Amino acid sequence: MQDCIFCKIAKKEIPSQVVYEDERILAFRDISPLAPVHVLIIPKEHLINVLDLNEKNVDLIGHIHLVANKLAREAGIAEKGFRIVTNCNEEGGQIVFHMHYHLIGGEELKNFA
Ligand code: AMP
Repeated sequence: MQDCIFCKIAKKEIPSQVVYEDERILAFRDISPLAPVHVLIIPKEHLINVLDLNEKNVDLIGHIHLVANKLAREAGIAEKGFRIVTNCNEEGGQIVFHMHYHLIGGEELKNFA
């Protein structure tokens, strides 16, 4: 989608620190990390948020979770613990309107928006 920053990141029009990529998703470091590990996992396809999920694309969520598990293990935070969060719409704290999952860890997590 034109003017979507995460679509531009997915198309490599804007640089990011990529930690994982396949044909359906991209994972890259959050530009303003809330913890030592803070990665965003996005579908390459433009979905606004979880409200855009349907029976045809919902398998993406399972895939994102498996990649989150892999990244958590690789980052060494799997055993101690981590958080996977997706924000939806304004009161849910969503700022970028391209669906994304935050993978956060590396310290004891308090409350994150
Ligand atoms: P949310 O509030 O769930 O929409 O989170 C959006 C996240 O995107 C925030 O944690 C931002 O720090 C992050 N972010 C925004 N722009 C960039 C960027 N160019 N590269 C990496 N992360 C970004």
